[in-house]
Amino acid sequence: MVRLMKGLRPYYPHLAGVIAALLAQALAELALPTLMAEIINNGMIKADYAYILKYGGYMLVVALASTVFGISANFLSALAGTGFGRDTRNRVFTHVESYSLHEFDQIGTASLINRTTNDITQVQSLLVMGLRFMVYSPIMCIGGIVMALRLDAGLTWILVVVLPLMLVFIGAIATRVVPLFRALQAKLDKVNLVLRENLTGIRVIRAFDRQLHETQRFDQANLDLTQTAIRVNKIMAVMFPLMMVLMNLTSVAIVWYGGIRISQGFMNLGGMMAFLQYAIQIMFSIIMVTWLFMMIPRAQASAVRINEVLDLRADISDPPQPARSADPLATVEFRDVSFSYPGADEPALRQISFQLRPGEFTAIIGGTGSGKSTLVNLIPRFYEVDSGAVLVDGVDVREMTQQDLRSRIGLVPQNPVIFSGTIADNIRYGKTDASDEEVRQAAQVAQAHEFIAALEDGYDARIAQGGTNLSGGQKQRLAIARALVRRPEIYILDDSFSALDFKTDARLRAALKQETANSTVIIVAQRVSTVMNADRIIVLDDGEIAGIGTHPQLLATSAVYREIVLSQLSEEEIA
Ligand code: ADP
Ligand code: MG
Repeated sequence: MVRLMKGLRPYYPHLAGVIAALLAQALAELALPTLMAEIINNGMIKADYAYILKYGGYMLVVALASTVFGISANFLSALAGTGFGRDTRNRVFTHVESYSLHEFDQIGTASLINRTTNDITQVQSLLVMGLRFMVYSPIMCIGGIVMALRLDAGLTWILVVVLPLMLVFIGAIATRVVPLFRALQAKLDKVNLVLRENLTGIRVIRAFDRQLHETQRFDQANLDLTQTAIRVNKIMAVMFPLMMVLMNLTSVAIVWYGGIRISQGFMNLGGMMAFLQYAIQIMFSIIMVTWLFMMIPRAQASAVRINEVLDLRADISDPPQPARSADPLATVEFRDVSFSYPGADEPALRQISFQLRPGEFTAIIGGTGSGKSTLVNLIPRFYEVDSGAVLVDGVDVREMTQQDLRSRIGLVPQNPVIFSGTIADNIRYGKTDASDEEVRQAAQVAQAHEFIAALEDGYDARIAQGGTNLSGGQKQRLAIARALVRRPEIYILDDSFSALDFKTDARLRAALKQETANSTVIIVAQRVSTVMNADRIIVLDDGEIAGIGTHPQLLATSAVYREIVLSQLSEEEIA
């Protein structure tokens, strides 16, 4: 809570202004009934028109002032609230960017989106309205009681009866509504989760004809949210008319009993009218305060959720004194590395050791789930190793800044990510200031130029969100071009040829070999034909290295490798 509220600090002047304006507004509002009493008693009853005009003028000025103060308070609190919302969204976003993949897995994308948008809006709106109720209502309530007592203590017994009654009413309603408010937020999360899964998984849902199932799933979550919201609103719908009845009954009581007191000579007409108005002000302020207290739990639930995001520290951070590269000849080295995913029983990688040199072409092969992607994801330090060390250019990746480390790497992930924008934008993602020539060159090496040139707008062709208007192979080649344009020391291509036909695969590898003569290239592949000509092949089997060597060496020494080869190639192809 404290962390979140720190974000309010820049808005202290605004908040001070809001409080001052609300104070002034409350005082002006409190003065109005007294002025009215003056007009009734000394102007109207005595038919003194000059007096009426004079005090009517005062009332007009006070009412205008109250309006101006009210508007200023609203204006300032809206400024503070929206500013706070903007800053907090920024803070959350920047913080989330520092997360390693582990933290993303922990909170979940749908919830993160919700927390950055809806939850912050909840806190923001409480701030805007809450401040008003919190400052204005107590002043009105206490001020009203003081003024009413001054007018006629004999009438106050009505308030003594009504106010506790009102509090009991409100208490009964609040105990029902508050838990519902709290539940609303979690239910909204659920709706968003289902919605998000549906939108991103729409193809799969259609392909497996699961629309009905998904619709039911959404309906359920939606209905759950709706019913809770309806219950809240039903209770609220009862509350307001009840309060109105109570207020009107109070007015009747005041007029009736006030009439008796006037006829007995204890009170005058103006006094009674003013008392009536103060009573209404008091009751309204009590309703406002309770409304506030009902809003708080919902915003508090949101605040807790936002704080969870802010308090979650990325388990990967930069060292205070980053080391610079020592031995540029050993580009990537694994020293006895073991790694398990958080919460997994089995380590995904066990005692992996190898060393790669620049200019070398290394292939990693192994069955699905053998840990290939996990291994290459340790090089850019997406995850932290459990034991052992990953070294890039002779330096432990934990001793480099992440920015320095990653600037040396051109990564093509297993599932290529394509951003909405043009083709050129997507390639330039690898290097913002790449020239058109560089972009084209990279696309040519990646064997993407042909299909891009065939598009109507060529490099300026628009790509739909998620790259849905491209084929799998086209996406892979774009992602490769993005890595190439960067001209990094280390290329990592995680299963990036899987959607390419054999011919394109071969052409791409040949072009890549020329282009990357001085770099370290790591290619993860399933196909033996892709890895056969590599300088070094690492065979992974169930998280362990089953063999390292060239194709002929491994054929002779590694049973696992032979098995993979035999399953894919015919005898004469091997020979
Ligand atoms: P490969 O790329 O060789 O197909 P992976 O490296 O993706 O294999 O996966 C290796 C193992 O780690 C698998 O058993 C998989 O279930 C597990 N795994 C992969 N990613 C995660 C993750 N984010 N969280 C937990 N376990 C994971
Ligand atoms: Mg993989």
